[in-house]
Amino acid sequence: MLCPCGCEQAYNDCCQAIIMAEKLAETPEQLMRSRYSAYANKNAEYIYHTYAFASQKEQSIDDIAQWAQQTQWLKLVIHFASDHQQDLANNMQSQVEFSAFYQHQGQIWHMRERSNFVIEDNAWRYLDGEVSDSLALARPKRNEQCFCGSEKKFKQCCAKNC
Ligand SMILES: [Zn+2]
Ligand SMILES: [Zn+2]
Repeated sequence: MLCPCGCEQAYNDCCQAIIMAEKLAETPEQLMRSRYSAYANKNAEYIYHTYAFASQKEQSIDDIAQWAQQTQWLKLVIHFASDHQQDLANNMQSQVEFSAFYQHQGQIWHMRERSNFVIEDNAWRYLDGEVSDSLALARPKRNEQCFCGSEKKFKQCCAKNC
């Protein structure tokens, strides 16, 4: 099975070991990808535990699980990841900007977010994010170009997940 995060590697060569806590995410981008894959696999506990501690207080595993149950994750596109080594040296937060395409209760959405990541307890964690786009998308016809930027037909791309 291909990893849901879109890296085009097998799940067990990519996000699985991080989600199973067999290894740590080395970069914020790896953590971000693993959280996306956990959403796709409806693993609410992993998502909860990879929030920064302050952010965990505003979350509940039940709410995350309910959201994940109602959502099919179609595609992750990473636009930008800051150089976390440099960020650490400068005492700055690391950032990843991404687009996520998903289907929620029959409607397809595009969300673009710039997320902030921090190290707590020796592990990268998701602190918060600023959403710059949250758009409802028209569902393409099967032979039309997919909305995710892949330049493939919809039926050969995100339609496989929804
Ligand atoms: Zn992955
Ligand atoms: Zn697509």
